[in-house]
Amino acid sequence: QSSRLFHPEDTIITTPHSVIGGDQFVMMAGPCSVESATHVDQMAAVAKQGGATIVRGGAFKPRTSPYSFQGLGETGLQYLRAAADKHDLDMITEVMDDEHVAMVAKYTDIFQIGARNMQNFSLLKAVGQTQIPVALKRGMSATIDDVLNAAEYIAAGGNHQIMILERGIRTFDNKYTRNTFDLGAVPVLQSLTHYPVIVDPSHAVGTWELVTPMAMAGVAAGASGMIVEIHDQPTQALSDGPQALKPATYLKMAQQAFQLHDLM
Ligand code: PEP
Ligand code: MN
Repeated sequence: QSSRLFHPEDTIITTPHSVIGGDQFVMMAGPCSVESATHVDQMAAVAKQGGATIVRGGAFKPRTSPYSFQGLGETGLQYLRAAADKHDLDMITEVMDDEHVAMVAKYTDIFQIGARNMQNFSLLKAVGQTQIPVALKRGMSATIDDVLNAAEYIAAGGNHQIMILERGIRTFDNKYTRNTFDLGAVPVLQSLTHYPVIVDPSHAVGTWELVTPMAMAGVAAGASGMIVEIHDQPTQALSDGPQALKPATYLKMAQQAFQLHDLM
């Protein structure tokens, strides 16, 4: 059960290099997409330097257009796994299809369920049958109760290692922000559920200049961690370049985020 009523204590998720939930603050960083072995290795080194214990990277990409880069597939998982191992990090990657769950499970420490798949019930059931932690993204048009019910689908299968990611929702005005970062959802989710709540300021705002202020707002709202996209050459990125933080910007933001979390 995801409700605090039945389970008052915070769920703490442990992966080989990370403790997620409770008073901990976890940093996850990496490129939107795994682009090459060398690139993801370099970005993993940057992620680690900023205090991340988890490197992110998509190998199966849910792109709006079918003609956009779709990801490197299993090869991308191999590159991300190698980069994580080399830098003593955990990895998180998106699984898009229930038929891929067993294959992605061979590589990843954490499954990411993308916003577009939050109510893909066969996928939720499939990850619920594993014992691998799941980072469930709130859908762009999902209510708080919707995302909690989606979490319930995973838990119902026996997998209780779930974290909920707020990544912004669609509202009437997303001209200047890719989505609307629902900061209020962070303390609301924490009051309703024992699962860790993580913020994704990158997808919430879509523009790198807005990422640091909204990342800090997410920490101030009480998030147990964040996931952030980084890239050394954002204009060359194969996906989500405009919202990627360059290494120096990420390192500064991460330092400030840990400091702010310590104050709370
Ligand atoms: C991503 O993490 O790169 C991604 C596609 O996120 P979302 O599902 O939140 O759009
Ligand atoms: Mn992305």
